[in-house]
Amino acid sequence: MSQHQQADKARTVIVVGAGPVGCLAAICLAKMGWNVDIYEARPDLRLPSSKAAAQQRSINLAISSRGITALHAIDPAATARFFQTVIPMCGRMIHDIRGNQQSQQYDKDGQCINSIDRALLNEGLLEEASAIPNIRLFFNHKVLSIDFDNRTMVIRDTNSETEFRKAFYLCIGADGSYSIVRRQLMRVVRMNFQQEYIPHEYIELKMPAGCDEHGQPVFLLDPNHLHIWPRHSFMLIALPNKDKSFTCTLFAPTVELDRLIGCEAILSWFRTYFPDALLLLGEDKLLNDFAKNTRSPLISIKAKPYHYKDRCVILGDSAHSMVPFYGQGLNCGLEDVRVLQALLLQEGVAPCSPPTHLGERELTDTKLFNALSKYTETRHEDLVAICELAMDN
Ligand code: FAD
Repeated sequence: MSQHQQADKARTVIVVGAGPVGCLAAICLAKMGWNVDIYEARPDLRLPSSKAAAQQRSINLAISSRGITALHAIDPAATARFFQTVIPMCGRMIHDIRGNQQSQQYDKDGQCINSIDRALLNEGLLEEASAIPNIRLFFNHKVLSIDFDNRTMVIRDTNSETEFRKAFYLCIGADGSYSIVRRQLMRVVRMNFQQEYIPHEYIELKMPAGCDEHGQPVFLLDPNHLHIWPRHSFMLIALPNKDKSFTCTLFAPTVELDRLIGCEAILSWFRTYFPDALLLLGEDKLLNDFAKNTRSPLISIKAKPYHYKDRCVILGDSAHSMVPFYGQGLNCGLEDVRVLQALLLQEGVAPCSPPTHLGERELTDTKLFNALSKYTETRHEDLVAICELAMDN
């Protein structure tokens, strides 16, 4: 059978969500021969208008060997390209209240975690997905509801404000913490579900690059560390960016942040708890970031099972949102894709067989059913463990 004929016969996977996990899942399944449609509620991240919005809020992330191994298993060439944009962090730098810094290496043999721009990673994965002929990307398309038994979903095209029904063979939910796929799954499976907001929120602050005697930008802190200012119930962290700035994240209880009303209150709090960071952030810049950047909640979500029969599975934050204190949320989401890929291969799931018709209510694909069941069974314990470790941390 020619490649073209094979593609015609291949079944359609719908991936809901074009975040990093959705993109990697799409690339993985397309490489296995499935036809993949990705539906993403937001506009294309690569458009200049979206980039401007993303620049306002540029979370950078720590990618560890868990995430790198997953990326490499699915797309080694892309992984090598992403690595040109990362900054290795070989340890933590603890900043005490007097401004002393103490380096704590992560590993005696020099293993590191890596700071990567979340938007750049997502854009890179979108580029990879766009270049694969059997992947189609639909932006501004929001999934509204799913009929798993009939294998169809209702999608709203927010460009034209029209709704339509779309058939799928397999649905992958990669639509983040407030997942519609998970909520729809709850209607058909007996899902154990736990959601917890912690009393803390986070706000992003930008530490600009400094300037050397030749007018060239320089890092104001050691770039090969993840900087932490621990202050009991709150803390500030800073991760380096390629442009020599740092993205800082302040984590603090809502009640503490609520007290910071007005410029003087914010500055005096920073002078008390983060005097060295305040010098580097700059007072005006800090006040500007405080006024401009939103405070966001932190949520932890556990669910089981992650799948329904032979037709749906949730991955990434839609299955396991975790608080970010272990820096493993995305790493685990990428690992989900690697684990799923291994099980699909192990069970011999093929994108063209067995011959069935869309709309069948009964279980039709035993191999796919086995792969998805094993995914839930083998993955759940590990994911709960990491969610709890993150919370304890
Ligand atoms: P998302 O990135 O949330 O993507 C979901 C996509 O689905 C979105 O694009 C959304 O628009 C789309 N969508 C939602 N609903 C619909 C719908 N109905 N129809 C169509 N599309 C829809 N992780 C790490 O590994 N390391 C770190 O250092 C780290 N630091 C973090 C720091 C902070 C402050 C926070 C908050 C998180 C951090 N994380 C970290 C976690 C990481 O950001 C997430 O785990 C990761 O972004 C999840 O990716 P995802 O693709 O599963 O979901």
